[in-house]
Amino acid sequence: ENGDQKKEPACFSTVIPGWFSEMSPMWPGEAHSLKVEKVLFQGKSDYQDVIVFQSATYGKVLVLDGVIQLTERDECAYQEMITHLPLCSIPNPKKVLVIGGGDGGVLREVARHASVEQIDMCEIDKMVVDVSKQFFPDVAIGYEDPRVNLVIGDGVAFLKNAAEGSYDAVIVDSSDPIGPAKELFEKPFFQSVARALRPGGVVCTQAESLWLHMDIIEDIVANCREIFKGSVNYAWTSVPTYPSGVIGFMLCSTEGPDVDFKHPLNPIDESSSKSNGPLKFYNAEIHSAAFCLPSFAKKVIESK
Ligand code: SAM
Repeated sequence: ENGDQKKEPACFSTVIPGWFSEMSPMWPGEAHSLKVEKVLFQGKSDYQDVIVFQSATYGKVLVLDGVIQLTERDECAYQEMITHLPLCSIPNPKKVLVIGGGDGGVLREVARHASVEQIDMCEIDKMVVDVSKQFFPDVAIGYEDPRVNLVIGDGVAFLKNAAEGSYDAVIVDSSDPIGPAKELFEKPFFQSVARALRPGGVVCTQAESLWLHMDIIEDIVANCREIFKGSVNYAWTSVPTYPSGVIGFMLCSTEGPDVDFKHPLNPIDESSSKSNGPLKFYNAEIHSAAFCLPSFAKKVIESK
């Protein structure tokens, strides 16, 4: 008998039968897995592969190009933070732009702000919008708000054509920089965001994981320090189904009235947003805490 020929234990299989394993060159050497109860949708849009499955422990899951975008169980941690970190940091936001975010969850959160009069959204992929309306009604409920104006198109082109100084806040809820979202992480895009914001306006953009992507984060921070003359900050939150279990945000403001992101001044009046369900994750304490960085990241981010 040849001892080298031993059968590998099942837990070593690259894809565990009956489980979804998330593999990408963006997190080499690791693959978070979820047990699949049932595949509910599989499609191919002009931009990406779209899958929805029922998981055993996280509810329904939306996957784009093999990467988890949201699960019913933990989407609150992402959608509430990416929205309320910027909007609770400025008084009276009125005009808000969302780039990406086709599932509608950020819209649901923006809609909690009674001061908001107009919510523009530019998502590249109509299939994400349709699939979310079909399978994630508690997330896509954001589309029901009459202030929402949805444009299907590329966020890069949309921002190039946006009127100068027109938005109080821009929220960039993008997928990873491999695929259609690549340009949403590049300098020219940040320049057009800054142009579209009013003086003292704010941007919050999905900015990857401290554990996996310090190189990407360093570049984003360096670009933002050049472009945004108000303040530049990194915040993060815990999302168990994102690679490494955390995700970060870049929060910047343009030159103008000072924005102190670490001390929220515009609390949400929960009575005005009953139809969107209660907040599950965000509160004023976690808002301020989100800007506390581990030492290894603090050193790099503050040196840029
Ligand atoms: N809201 C999700 C969550 O809860 O985690 C996060 C991801 S959201 C589904 C990301 C969206 O960005 C996708 O729907 C994708 O189609 C969209 N997107 C990617 N590139 C884009 C671009 N260049 N312009 C507009 N939208 C884009």
